[in-house]
Amino acid sequence: MDCKRITLSQKDIPAAWYNLQADLPQPVPPPLHPGTKKPLHPSELEPIFAKALIQQEISGERWIEIPEAVREVYKIWRPTALVRATEFEKALKTPARIYFKDESVSPPGSHKPNTAVAQAYYNKMEGINRLSTETGAGQWGSSLAFACAQFDMQCKVFMVRVSYDQKPYRRSMMQIWGSSVTPSPSPETNAGRQILAADPECPGSLGIAISEAVEYAATREDTKYTLGSVLNHVMLHQSVIGLEAEKQFELAGDFPDIVIGCVGGGSNFAGLAFPLLRHKLTDRKEMRFVACEPHSCPSMSHGQYRYDFGDTTQLTPLVKMFTLGHNFMPPGIHAGGLRYHGMAPMVSLGAKLGLIEAAAFHQIECFEAAQLFARTEGIIPAPETSHAICGAVKEALRCREENEEKCIVFNLSGHGLCDMASYDRFLGGHLEDYAYPKEKIEEALAELPVVE
Ligand SMILES: *Cc1c(COP(=O)(O)O)cnc(C)c1O
Repeated sequence: MDCKRITLSQKDIPAAWYNLQADLPQPVPPPLHPGTKKPLHPSELEPIFAKALIQQEISGERWIEIPEAVREVYKIWRPTALVRATEFEKALKTPARIYFKDESVSPPGSHKPNTAVAQAYYNKMEGINRLSTETGAGQWGSSLAFACAQFDMQCKVFMVRVSYDQKPYRRSMMQIWGSSVTPSPSPETNAGRQILAADPECPGSLGIAISEAVEYAATREDTKYTLGSVLNHVMLHQSVIGLEAEKQFELAGDFPDIVIGCVGGGSNFAGLAFPLLRHKLTDRKEMRFVACEPHSCPSMSHGQYRYDFGDTTQLTPLVKMFTLGHNFMPPGIHAGGLRYHGMAPMVSLGAKLGLIEAAAFHQIECFEAAQLFARTEGIIPAPETSHAICGAVKEALRCREENEEKCIVFNLSGHGLCDMASYDRFLGGHLEDYAYPKEKIEEALAELPVVE
């Protein structure tokens, strides 16, 4: 094997997305209405989501055709390379073969535009001219801003105020792509005005920004809301990652034993893992799937598989997922993203069924793994991605101890070039590892809604 980068041509961009719902041994539990706690009727989501996306959310079809206009935009950066991390392997002195799928090459720098482009397209087809959303550090907001620019749509992003003030570069990216970026809480919505009346200096939170973005869409005919992770249709759109990887492994004459990704809401992990998981489900291949998360926000490792709200303000439907409780807040010293309290229902069900395992890491070991990766393979990964790299390091070192020649693949979900402030804290010795926040988790779990 002497091929470093396994590349495909543009005609190899998948023609259909893969829907794992068709092959799971049991259906994903339905979302429930937050008030009545009865299964939600799909039409109840229509005020905020495009109809085509709601259909995909509940679809059991195995293959869903990718519209030509979406594939056309994918051509800007897809297919992405599958890269053999030869220098990283040497540094780890491992007999394992390590590959990564490079999703950092999209214009916004992560996997997120795989779904942003699809969501913008379907909304445009339904006559919607503006999309609203929330963003924390700006990864999702910038991906949606890029996608809206491609389809000549307007984009309204509510950005958590502290990030708006302290992380200006992704805000500038969104503005360059023509999106309107509003610091949240804002005086533009009822939700924002209420918060500001109580505390004019409120630094904002993702929960508040979600409330503002949903209200903004629900109160306007021409605007719908979008979400960048967690939902089934997002997992579906991200499957292009694994479908391409499948072809690339065939070209390389290799096949993964261990598939690794970092998990926030679960979408980049699902994107790589689900098309490969099919081989375990239908061909009974021996494979392991490892979802990597921070010790400070360990929803898969320490959460419960329960119905919970998607947001702090209890506005969203209840979904069955591994959750730490909607009121859980990770400790402030955590620098690496992946702060969501829950996990995608599809990834959660996969874990419940024993198909997916979880691993939790401390932040300093993640940044160390990221630095070793940057020094050997050149790419500076996003702090989120460093959790997947840390997972790959652990597996590679285990292979060294047990002298096993396993094939490992991880998803390089994004680059870290807009996250150098976190790297500065690491280099300056200002990062600390935290103990597992046991009390905070117990408190938040005690506040889970009672459904069954
Ligand atoms: C948003 C993001 C994640 C976490 O979200 P998932 O839905 O779990 O993929 C991970 N890596 C990068 C680079 C991101 O931007």
